[in-house]
Amino acid sequence: TDEWQALRQKYGVSVEGEDVPPMCFTFREMKFPKPIRTALKEMKVKLPTPIQMQGLPVALKGRDLIGIASTGSGKTLAFLLPLIMMAWEAERKLPLIPGEGPLGLIICPSRELAKQIYDNMECFVKHIQNYDGTVIRGILAIGGVSIREQLETMCQGVHVCVATPGRLHDLLKRKKLHLESCRFVCLDEADRLIDLGFEEDIRGIFDFFVSQRQSLMFSATMPKKIQSFARTALVNPILVNVGRAG
Ligand code: ADP
Ligand code: MG
Repeated sequence: TDEWQALRQKYGVSVEGEDVPPMCFTFREMKFPKPIRTALKEMKVKLPTPIQMQGLPVALKGRDLIGIASTGSGKTLAFLLPLIMMAWEAERKLPLIPGEGPLGLIICPSRELAKQIYDNMECFVKHIQNYDGTVIRGILAIGGVSIREQLETMCQGVHVCVATPGRLHDLLKRKKLHLESCRFVCLDEADRLIDLGFEEDIRGIFDFFVSQRQSLMFSATMPKKIQSFARTALVNPILVNVGRAG
């Protein structure tokens, strides 16, 4: 409606897609449980940024999402929080069996970024474990890291895999990792993934999915190549664009 239109405009948010859920202006309104809010506090995060205000309600509903917002605008939490919530709920309902997983996959263009995202996730994991004892396990599938330790974690069952495309594709091809139970995938810094020539690796990775999944893509820019990739990989996505005339 016009009222939402005006509020979105106020925050520089434009949206495209069917049945876009309303923005939320606080994390409380998004109904995040206590340990999530405690972790956010520890990160000095008080109020959501515009990409989070609109992106989180979309992703938490299970919809496919293309999120466009500049560097430093808080895109990480827009995909990490929905993924953590999914992993937590899944583990509470039916704990992973040995060797199962990952349930969620984050693909990003560099090892450094993968490590950052992983560390970010560990903060939520710690607070959730303190809260109700649920253990959410993650692995880093990046070049330059010995995979022995990660294979051990995978033996226990793993919820989240944070990966760079080359190493991930390699692990999938060698059947060290499988995506049979994976139902959430996020491409972070999609523009850089494409610029660095990872498009073929990523298409190859998507061929390993078997079941229905939720797909998210985040990027600072929206070049043609990303639009065409999104059309083939995402289902009825919602586009959330911050800080640009929509
Ligand atoms: P992007 O991926 O869009 O470049 P990041 O997700 O890396 O941005 O976030 C940039 C910085 O802003 C990080 O240090 C992060 O902890 C911080 N941040 C994220 N969301 C918020 C928020 N809602 N309030 C305050 N700081 C935030
Ligand atoms: Mg980022």
